[in-house]
Amino acid sequence: MENTNPLSKTHPCFDKEAKGKYARVHIPVAPKCNVQCGYCNRKYDCVNESRPGVTSSILTPQQSLQYIKAISQKIDNISTIGIAGPGDAFAEPEKTFEAIRLIKDEFPDKIFCLSSNGLNLLPYVDQIAELDVTHVTITINSFRLETLAKIYNWARFNKKMYRGIAAAELMLEQQTEALKALVAKNITVKINTVLIPGVNDTEIEEVAQIIGELGAATMNCIPLIPTEDTEFSDLEKPSSQLVRDSYRAVRKHIKPMTHCSRCRADAAGMLGNDNIDAYKLIEEYAAMPTAVDKTKPHVAVASYEGLMINKHLGEATDFLIYKQTETGYELVERRFAPAKGSGDLRWINLAKTLNDCSYILVNGVGAKPVDLLQKVGIAVLEMSGLIEDGLEAVYKGKKLKSVLKTTLGKCGSGCGGNAMGCG
Ligand code: SF4
Ligand code: SF4
Repeated sequence: MENTNPLSKTHPCFDKEAKGKYARVHIPVAPKCNVQCGYCNRKYDCVNESRPGVTSSILTPQQSLQYIKAISQKIDNISTIGIAGPGDAFAEPEKTFEAIRLIKDEFPDKIFCLSSNGLNLLPYVDQIAELDVTHVTITINSFRLETLAKIYNWARFNKKMYRGIAAAELMLEQQTEALKALVAKNITVKINTVLIPGVNDTEIEEVAQIIGELGAATMNCIPLIPTEDTEFSDLEKPSSQLVRDSYRAVRKHIKPMTHCSRCRADAAGMLGNDNIDAYKLIEEYAAMPTAVDKTKPHVAVASYEGLMINKHLGEATDFLIYKQTETGYELVERRFAPAKGSGDLRWINLAKTLNDCSYILVNGVGAKPVDLLQKVGIAVLEMSGLIEDGLEAVYKGKKLKSVLKTTLGKCGSGCGGNAMGCG
C-alpha cells in the first residue's frame, strides 16, 4: 500500500528525506519480552553497542515524561517519539500506554511510534488508534511455520507457554491479524524482517509480497548481527551481495526502507547521528523518584524519632504515614507493621497494610521485600537524611544526593531478548 500518511514526511524512519531533517527519541519503558528469538540476547548498560534492544537504563512512564522534557531542550526538531523495547511494547502494555498518554498530554504535536514482535498487539489495536499512534512496526521474519519454529524458541501468550510449531502457528496468526487490523485503522505499518542466512534468506521476497498485499507501507530488512550466547551466534553475517539481492526482491512488491540505523532502545537524535548525552540523561532520570501515584496518595516512612529517615525496612515495627497538603506535608498516622519472622508473608502483609502508599522511605532494605513490594506498585526509596527532604523527592520529583536508590520500574531479571527486530 502506498504510504499516504502525511505525517510520514516528518518521520525519520518512514521517509528517507525526513531522516536528515527530523529527530526521533526512544523511551526505554518496555523491559520485558513475551517471546525468545534465536538472535536475541539483551544486555543492559552497554553503551558501546549500537543495536536494537540495548539500553543503558529503563524508565518508568513518569520518568519518561521528565526525560522527554529534558531531551527536548537538547535536541531540535524532534518529530517522533518511539517505543522500541528493549523488550516488547506489548509484554506490559499498560506501561507503554501510560507513557504515551503522559507524553501526549504535554507534546500533542509529536508523532507516536511503536515497535513490536506482534504477538500481543492485536488486542490493543483499538487503543493504539484511540491514542492516535500513527506508526507501528511489526517484526515478521517468515510466513512459513518450519522457519518460524527455528526462529522463535518460545512464545508466552495469555499465561500459556508455546514452543516449536505451536509457537510458530501462534506468531504467524497473531502477527498477520495484527497487521490487517492496524491497516484497517489507517495506521501506517512498517515490517522489519531480520535477514538470517540459511534460515529465512530465501523467503524475503515471499514476505515482501504478502505484507505488501496485506497493506504494509514499507519493509526494512535488518541483516542479522550474530550475538554472543544466542542460538544464531555461529551464523555468518549476511554478505553485502545477499543484502543487495534481498532489497532487489523487496522492491518488486513494497517500498523498502534502506536507511535503517539499527537504533538502540534508548536512541535519541537524528538517525545515524545519535546524541550520546541522551544515555547519561536517561541514567539520571532512571534514578529519579517518580511522582506519587494519585490512587495511592500516601508515603510511608521508617524513622526512629520522626525527623530522619534512619530505620531499615526489616527493623521497622511501625511507619509514619504522610500526605501532601496545600502548604506542605502532614503526618496522617503512625501505622503498625505486620509481625516479624513470617518470611514472604510478612512482606505480603506489609503490602496490604500500606496499600494506600506509593512509596516507602527507608534507610536500608533487602532485595526480597523490594521485589515483592514493587510487584504491587509500592516503590522503596532507600535514602538517608531528613523526612522532609524525602517527601520533597517523591512528591515533587526533586533530585537528592542522599537518595541511595529507588526501585520502582527497574528492570528485573525476568527479561530476555534484545529487540533486534526494531529499527
Ligand atoms: S528480538 Fe528480543 S526483545 Fe525483540 S521480540 Fe525477539 S526476544 Fe523479544
Ligand atoms: S526506530 Fe522503530 S520505533 Fe523508533 S522511531 Fe523508528 S520506526 Fe519508530
